[in-house]
Amino acid sequence: MKLETKFWETKSLLEMNDEEWEALCDGCGKCCYRKFIEGRGKQQKLYFTRIACNLLDVESGKCGNYRDRFKLETDCTKLTSKNLPDFSWLPTTCAYRLLYENKPLFDWHPLISGTPDSVKNADIPIKNGIHERDVIDWFEFIIDEEMPLKGK
Ligand code: SF4
Repeated sequence: MKLETKFWETKSLLEMNDEEWEALCDGCGKCCYRKFIEGRGKQQKLYFTRIACNLLDVESGKCGNYRDRFKLETDCTKLTSKNLPDFSWLPTTCAYRLLYENKPLFDWHPLISGTPDSVKNADIPIKNGIHERDVIDWFEFIIDEEMPLKGK
């Protein structure tokens, strides 16, 4: 089925069908990198790392076993329109987060640029990813932080 032109501007996240929902993902793979939270209350910080889920292909940003990911990685969670509010840790570039926060998509989003290459060209994917199984000290791999978490 052909996607409606600029459907993300005319439909709410809850109104989108499965195909539209899937098309929103820019394929950056950032949600498959580990994050951790330090501190409490207003001091709470969310740290992003370049530590990848063991299933992630760090070159392509794609899951190495999409079909069985929930069996193989027990903390892998499916992002849906219903649980989106629980995903406050999504990167600020993520289309789901942007639309949830009533912000426009970036020009490099494949739905606007017409090519998935624009995500890499805009320098969005995490570089030098390392798999979780190869890491001892997570602090060595922090790349960014945000604070505080939404709603805290
Ligand atoms: S962070 Fe958002 S846009 Fe990027 S891969 Fe994950 S769900 Fe898709």
